[in-house]
Amino acid sequence: MTSRLSRLVVAMIATAGATLGVTVANPSPASAAMTICYNTSQAGSYAGTANQAASIWNNATVNLTLSANCGSNLRIYQITGGGSYAVRTSLGNGRVYIDTQQAAQYSPLRIMTHEIGHILGLPDNYNGNCAILMSGGSAGTSCTNPYPSSAEASRVSSLFAGTFSATERSTDRSADIFRDSWPATLAPVS
Ligand SMILES: [Zn+2]
Repeated sequence: MTSRLSRLVVAMIATAGATLGVTVANPSPASAAMTICYNTSQAGSYAGTANQAASIWNNATVNLTLSANCGSNLRIYQITGGGSYAVRTSLGNGRVYIDTQQAAQYSPLRIMTHEIGHILGLPDNYNGNCAILMSGGSAGTSCTNPYPSSAEASRVSSLFAGTFSATERSTDRSADIFRDSWPATLAPVS
């Protein structure tokens, strides 16, 4: 190539690199080092729990950062009755509902990290194993483990590596509602 073209290519690469280096609050699905802004304005007494859960996920994963009150990719709500659940509108975006009645029986932090796990792309895995975060309430009320397993954490890191196509992110890998079965003396949400 000519030296003039070479300089142009170098300039384009430099521009692309500068763009990649910028981390922005992005309401759209995964991009490199996605920042997920979570909003606790309606989290009631669970705002601190949400902050703890965010730290756990940030420490366990790469390619994403949960950041408090910089936007509303993820809204967290305190509710009473009906069960805790998550509504994922796309990868890294959605709403989490923490039921005070369930949180009185089960570890609130485990519920919070579990529900956020759904927003981060993980399905339920009700195998009764307390070491598995997505086993949720199947591990019983005595299970207070709030940490994802290494396999769960690496799955989330992979999802946020941005290697999936937009089509994949917008279909089966994204939107979903998780009505959790944290066993409790509650009428399930229908
Ligand atoms: Zn769940």
